[in-house]
Amino acid sequence: MKIETSQIANLPSRFGTFKIQTFKEGEKEHLVIFKEPLDVVPTVRVHSECLTGDAIGSLKCDCRDQLEFALKEIENHHGMVIYLRQEGRNIGLLNKVNAYALQDKGLDTVEANHQLGFDADERTYEVVEYILNHFGIKKIKLLTNNPKKMESLEGIEIVERLPIIVGENEYNEEYLQTKKDKMGHLL
Ligand SMILES: [Zn+2]
Repeated sequence: MKIETSQIANLPSRFGTFKIQTFKEGEKEHLVIFKEPLDVVPTVRVHSECLTGDAIGSLKCDCRDQLEFALKEIENHHGMVIYLRQEGRNIGLLNKVNAYALQDKGLDTVEANHQLGFDADERTYEVVEYILNHFGIKKIKLLTNNPKKMESLEGIEIVERLPIIVGENEYNEEYLQTKKDKMGHLL
């Protein structure tokens, strides 16, 4: 896969003063947000796009809280957030809303995906290694609860896993329990 990269630009934000760079993989335009100078072993968060959570503040998931937590962490520890454009665990927004409609009828997040003909989690992380290599990063501290993410980064040494436990609320209790029970998340 050919990947096209943008220039690096400044991004002052409510969470810190960052640099940003886009990595375009096919139709997907991923965004890397980082704080200079990067730590020798930077804290890295790999965040998959969630429009309903990240932009609209949905309480059905914990995405926005995790993203905000990660941005504050990378500001404090000179790290990096890799924002991957794989909406709805990579089934896209239309299918995600259809999955939500099934959840309204009582299915859990995994059952809903299966009913629509998808795996519980369709996300991939190949581009993450490409991005880390691009920055010359060989060792990271990975901010995650998801063991699958750690396994997927074969060429990168993860010296430490930093848990990210934020964003529980009355609406996403079952969702978080399903992630723990059916998807192996360490919550
Ligand atoms: Zn979400």
